[in-house]
Amino acid sequence: MTTLKAVRGTRDLLPPETKLWSHIETTAREVFARYGFGEIRTPIFEDTQLFARGVGEETDIVSKEMYTWEDRARAQSEKAQSLTLRPENTAGVVRAYIEHGLGDTGLLQKLFYIGPQFRRERPQKGRYRQFFQIGAEVIGPSSSGSESPLRDAEVLEMLASLLDALPIKGWKLLINSVGSKQDRPRYIETLSAALKPVVGRVCEDCQRRAATNPLRVLDCKVPEDQPIIETLPKIWDSLDADSRAHFEQVCRALDACRVPYEHNHRLVRGLDYYTRTTFEFQHAIGLGAQNALIGGGRYDGLSELIGGPKAPGIGFAIGQDRLALAMGLQLSEEKWSSFEKDIDAYIAPLGEALNAQALALARELRRERLRVELGDGSFKLKKSFETGNKLARAIVLFGEDEAASGILTVKDFSSGEQQKVPRASLAEHLRQLSDKSAAPGNQLLATS
Ligand code: AMP
Repeated sequence: MTTLKAVRGTRDLLPPETKLWSHIETTAREVFARYGFGEIRTPIFEDTQLFARGVGEETDIVSKEMYTWEDRARAQSEKAQSLTLRPENTAGVVRAYIEHGLGDTGLLQKLFYIGPQFRRERPQKGRYRQFFQIGAEVIGPSSSGSESPLRDAEVLEMLASLLDALPIKGWKLLINSVGSKQDRPRYIETLSAALKPVVGRVCEDCQRRAATNPLRVLDCKVPEDQPIIETLPKIWDSLDADSRAHFEQVCRALDACRVPYEHNHRLVRGLDYYTRTTFEFQHAIGLGAQNALIGGGRYDGLSELIGGPKAPGIGFAIGQDRLALAMGLQLSEEKWSSFEKDIDAYIAPLGEALNAQALALARELRRERLRVELGDGSFKLKKSFETGNKLARAIVLFGEDEAASGILTVKDFSSGEQQKVPRASLAEHLRQLSDKSAAPGNQLLATS
């Protein structure tokens, strides 16, 4: 029989890598809490229409990458329906905002999510078909201040703080304005006119985009196309005074917080719903072409597109896979291996008759919040030492003598020292050993 494997573009995440993933999630939750965000969990699949209308029929995501199926009716009362695994989460959050009348509170809604997304892209390093995003949305009626450039700057400042807290080194923030609903058609007209005489000289993809979604031409990475694209008109020149002022205020607030950024005129991003501010955080190390860690922007008309009230907003999605990849590359070999050895003590019962009492000892120590692995009395002493050394910082020998006297033998693997320790002070002793040899990986995580 052929052995079954994870489907192309999906993968298993295993320890110790998952420790890094948890660290990223914990840090994100802590940072979001400081800015008043609450968690939202929306379904993994939605009505296909939500993405067709929300993300846009002409986007790569909707036109090529969605996992869509016809869900058959199973009862008279049901209708067949086209469903889609969510390729992103903003449309789902805005749908929930509308469905639950969150705008009626009159308050700004600040919602974050963490979860898998699905796109049928060509898999490569940093690009998967099931990938994970940590994202957030700030959305509300105009009266809640949702259109204010201060919200954009605050979101960007929060992301800079999150990257620093993880820590991720060497990130770069690119920002741009793609203009309002009024600016955009004006620019697209100018852009299309400028593309006409050169369209025969750009790549096939750009030729298609020139007809279907000219803005996306600015995204092209094909080296031969670059000199041509550089000569195209800039969107900035098509923005009206309001859009420019909005962007300038975002920049001013970022300057005030000393968050570094670069105004990149070509940053348009692949989703149709963006208006005004768009941004991307990039990371140079080891991610190759997939160097975008975070993408986001303002989507002032999205709610109306999917049948809701006016609800301007701004949001972002962090690619958690790429973030973990970048952090993993940042950690040295030594720090990585220390991720594996974060157990405080390995308890070795010396004989099967001592197994039950050894479990009771492990329970005692675990209740003291220590991390404990329990061996098995059937193991030879040599095997216990070998296993203990692979897993833990110290080994506690638990034989007949130790059980009777209440004095345990503890060996610290890093110093090689062996000591007799009374059971009453065992937890404290192990804690001290752990503090002394605190794994650099854990230090990095603890102090960040
Ligand atoms: P987007 O939703 O396309 O704006 O993407 C936001 C972020 O999600 C990107 O900057 C990436 O970090 C991440 N991302 C998007 N697509 C994928 C994918 N197929 N695999 C891994 N990460 C992805």
